[in-house]
Amino acid sequence: MSRKPGKLYVITGPSGTGKGCICKEILKEIDNEFSVSMTTRPAREGEVHGKDYYFVSEEEFLANVEKGNFLEHARVFDNLYGTPKDMVMKQLVKGRNIILDIDVQGALQVKKAMPEAIMIFLLPPSLDELRRRLEGRATDSQDVIEKRLGQALNEIKLIGEYDYYVVNDDIEKAVSEVKSIMTAEKCRVPDKVTEIIKNYE
Ligand code: ADP
Ligand code: 5GP
Repeated sequence: MSRKPGKLYVITGPSGTGKGCICKEILKEIDNEFSVSMTTRPAREGEVHGKDYYFVSEEEFLANVEKGNFLEHARVFDNLYGTPKDMVMKQLVKGRNIILDIDVQGALQVKKAMPEAIMIFLLPPSLDELRRRLEGRATDSQDVIEKRLGQALNEIKLIGEYDYYVVNDDIEKAVSEVKSIMTAEKCRVPDKVTEIIKNYE
């Protein structure tokens, strides 16, 4: 019997908006897979290779680009990030839903390659609050924070490319909205309705 393919959720938005936090909360409550990206960024304290990212050299990353191993990849603030293609495809074929937490450039590449992807844009309540979050996270130098903030408005201007937007003011509310999107997508009438009708014949 053919299995229903899983759904691909892309969660994107300016750096510091809260994508990582929201994905973590969603994964605690909903049994979805998370796509672990490859990056040339050095690991931050507490980050685990294979769980948070695959931390690799620029040479290894570029070899993967050359082999066509990425669904999308982009340079984000001086480091390279990419989504390994085979892991995503394997999960979808198994009927598992998978969540990608990636930047806006990568998100638009995924939309082009897989138009069926469900595109969610996460917004900060304001750019002042985004600055507070980036500074509060204390993982980046002031120079990197300024670059991330400088990019945020340009990214927000591309919101028309997305299916859904969620403002992350209160984290619980934002998580609940993302979960509602997932529930609505589960209830969407599929292109092939024969399987549903068969249950009633
Ligand atoms: P991103 O993955 O989008 O770069 P993070 O998930 O790392 O962002 O969150 C950036 C910072 O903002 C973190 O310090 C996080 O604790 C904080 N944060 C996330 N969501 C909220 C929220 N709703 N209210 C206040 N702070 C938040
Ligand atoms: P950080 O260095 O703070 O973990 O992530 C920086 C940015 O890179 C975030 O916006 C994050 O969503 C994005 N990112 C993480 N993994 C990928 C990926 O595989 N591809 C792309 N394009 N962006 C990614």
